[in-house]
Amino acid sequence: MKDYEILVIGAGVFGAWTAWHLRRAGKSVLLLDAWGPGHTRSSSGGESRIIRMGYGGDEIYTRMAVRSLALWQDLIRQTGQPLFHRTGVLWMARPDDPYSEATRKTLGRVGVPAEIVPSAELIKRYPQMHLTDAHTYGIFEPQSGALIARRAVAAVVEDATRNGVEYTTEAVRAPYGGGRLASVRALSGQVVSAGVFVFACGPWLPKMFPELLKNRICPSRQEVFFFGSPAGDQRFAPPHLPVWIDFTEPRRPYGFPDLEGRGFKLAFDRHGPEFDPDLGDRRVSAESVAEANCFLAERFPDLRDAPLTESRVCQYENTSTGDFLIDRHPDFHNVWLVGGGSGHGFKHGPAVGEYVTSRILHGGMVDSRFSLASKDETQRRAVY
Ligand SMILES: Cc1cc2nc3c(=O)[nH]c(=O)nc-3n(C[C@H](O)[C@H](O)[C@H](O)COP(=O)(O)OP(=O)(O)OC[C@H]3O[C@@H](n4cnc5c(N)ncnc54)[C@H](O)[C@@H]3O)c2cc1C
Repeated sequence: MKDYEILVIGAGVFGAWTAWHLRRAGKSVLLLDAWGPGHTRSSSGGESRIIRMGYGGDEIYTRMAVRSLALWQDLIRQTGQPLFHRTGVLWMARPDDPYSEATRKTLGRVGVPAEIVPSAELIKRYPQMHLTDAHTYGIFEPQSGALIARRAVAAVVEDATRNGVEYTTEAVRAPYGGGRLASVRALSGQVVSAGVFVFACGPWLPKMFPELLKNRICPSRQEVFFFGSPAGDQRFAPPHLPVWIDFTEPRRPYGFPDLEGRGFKLAFDRHGPEFDPDLGDRRVSAESVAEANCFLAERFPDLRDAPLTESRVCQYENTSTGDFLIDRHPDFHNVWLVGGGSGHGFKHGPAVGEYVTSRILHGGMVDSRFSLASKDETQRRAVY
């Protein structure tokens, strides 16, 4: 195999966009994945992912989401692929919730269009939704919505390869030693040499670098449910229902309207138990289905008897706070670690790839929020 300027290991959303940007900057790039872009066990391999701009007071993520939406839309224009549904995103909040209040202020400061929807208006606008708390209000982002995740990752890799990135399916062994890494070996026996290595291995990062990342990136089991709406009933599809996120209750339920006929999607954003991305059981439990049914009966009463049409078990790859990991490996000066999407990374793929590319090409310190040093072993989630 020939020598590359950059080798990117992992073709999830972070690795795919990193390879894409590096090629745009003129680099020779090889992108490798053990199973393929957006494969079913990867964190990027789901049906859909929310892209919203609201992030409490974390302007850094609001700005990254704004930049990413623009880059996703460029990709969609160039490839002609329908990868984004502009459903709008409705954030449901209580008046005394500081995170939601900070979101409102940050969106205003950054200039993201957002509408405050008072409780009475929410009830009028979304009669298919039953609000239990009369004080709940909405923050509505009209330009946000849903990305069709697995297809979107495949499209990034297709576009990258059209522009000269080489892609191949190979699983890479962990590097040992320190100093300057010259090459890595794949399980097939292939040896790949490169000037810079980017390990964008998502939930596999702690397996790859156990001494460094075990307990600093913690994969958690996350369940997702799709329910079938009544025949001919449009109330649970866009434009009648947007993507919604409920910050008024601790389980943080969120959902998608029926997109492309795949059903009404529901999940809870609380962290599930520890999960092995290779061998973890991907069947949802009967208790979880019962909990989802119960939530539906209360919040969307006309879906009370909706059949479960599909379910998925995926994993978050959580850092202690939910901040991404984008930093140099402390022992190898030409190795980058990129991951820690922590349940909110998908939307940011384009901006993360751009950020990594800029650090590789132009050097400089990484933002302290992304640094390895800021990742400790105790979960104190602060980013949602
Ligand atoms: C249920 C669920 C809902 C989510 N909802 C949202 C949402 O609404 N909005 C949002 O923005 N984000 C969301 N996220 C988070 C987001 O999907 C992830 O943060 C993001 O996809 C992580 O991408 P990644 O590229 O880091 O990892 P991955 O997609 O897992 O990619 C890593 C890749 O590395 C490869 N790899 C690993 N080891 C090796 C090796 N040794 N050799 C070669 N290849 C290797 C793997 O095969 C894999 O393809 C959600 C996540 C889940 C699970």
